[in-house]
Amino acid sequence: MAEAFFQQHQEIFHTLFEAASEGVIVVNSEQKIVTANKTALQMFGYEKEELLGEHLNILIPINYKADHSQHFKRFLKHSEKRQMGHGRDLYGVKKDGSEFPVEAGLNPFEVDGERFVMSLVVDITVRKENQRRIRELNADLEDKIKIRTRELSDTVQDLEKEISKRKKAEKRLKLSLKQEKELNELKTKFLSLVSHEFKTPLSGILSSATLAEKYTKTEQQEKREKHLRTIKNKVHYLNNILNDFLSLERLESGNVNYKYSEFSLNKLINDVIYNANVTLKYGQEIDYPRDLKDIMLHQDEKIVELILSNLMGNAIKYSPEDSLIKFRVKPETEKVIFEVEDEGIGIPQKDQKHIFERYFRAENALLNQGTGIGLNIAKVHLENMGGKLYFKSEENKGSIFTVELPYKGKKET
Ligand code: ADP
Repeated sequence: MAEAFFQQHQEIFHTLFEAASEGVIVVNSEQKIVTANKTALQMFGYEKEELLGEHLNILIPINYKADHSQHFKRFLKHSEKRQMGHGRDLYGVKKDGSEFPVEAGLNPFEVDGERFVMSLVVDITVRKENQRRIRELNADLEDKIKIRTRELSDTVQDLEKEISKRKKAEKRLKLSLKQEKELNELKTKFLSLVSHEFKTPLSGILSSATLAEKYTKTEQQEKREKHLRTIKNKVHYLNNILNDFLSLERLESGNVNYKYSEFSLNKLINDVIYNANVTLKYGQEIDYPRDLKDIMLHQDEKIVELILSNLMGNAIKYSPEDSLIKFRVKPETEKVIFEVEDEGIGIPQKDQKHIFERYFRAENALLNQGTGIGLNIAKVHLENMGGKLYFKSEENKGSIFTVELPYKGKKET
């Protein structure tokens, strides 16, 4: 019989069995243990005699037994070498009842027509423990990484917020620095302007006043008036410069609030002509429309008057005595067009492209007093109000400055 065969060839098997580092357990077709090596005995905690003839179930935990028998029968039927478990954890049970994880491979074989299965069993307690530890460590590590990542992204977010806050502050600072610088420049310009531009008119005013004082007789009224006119003229000029500067400062600091209101076109024309008349040179005349049908405008009256007075002032300043200045007014459907034409010095071709730049003065204008501010302000204001300013000019022939002004202002404030 086969059991006898194993008994008889004990020595051969002994050597093979004991050399194996795996536990080796051989069962017959009834799953009765026919032999087991030392490693297997040590693993399960039995003496050899205690196992021989026992059902294999003795080594399998109760909750696996039913399952195992089914598997075993199916396995014997197909009878091929294979690994047990298939993704499930396998356990063995020791004599003392304690369970431990195993890995088992099954090898069927036949002796004398009888079938046996040799199970190779490895105790994987240590490996499992190591795996568990590794898993634990990994989980730990993942947790730590998650926490660190969260902390890091929080820090990054904080940093981003801080950076954008700083950038905004820097922008504000740069802007206010720029504004301060521009205002400072403006003040410096103003001081140098006051010292240069104000000197001549002021001494003119002084000498006219001194002269006027001397004409005490009634019949000298005409002479007195001449000097008074000069004084008025120069005061007017100074007043215009101051207005320009105030306007410039307001434009610069973004503080222009246009005060829109309804006003009559005819009244505007009269005011502009009245102002201009004060500064006319000897023999100069203004040709302007006197029979216009009155129209109402809805704009900032003071600013419109300032712009037109500026253009009239330039026409007078930059043209000779006895010349004609034409002030045309053409009401159209959406806008009214003003033209100021003079027969003056004109603007040299090469200077024309700079004429609206702040402080720019053409070469041929330098003998006349001026600041180079008026046209720049006029253009900015007009554009803010939805209008336009442009010119045509020829040196030594004259200039035409054109203002296009919509009846209704662009920005309501
Ligand atoms: P200002 O007259 O105080 O110099 P403006 O800004 O009014 O400043 O004008 C800028 C420049 O444009 C003047 O310096 C002058 O060279 C030129 N200009 C303006 N109007 C006329 C004009 N009617 N005829 C000739 N040149 C002019």
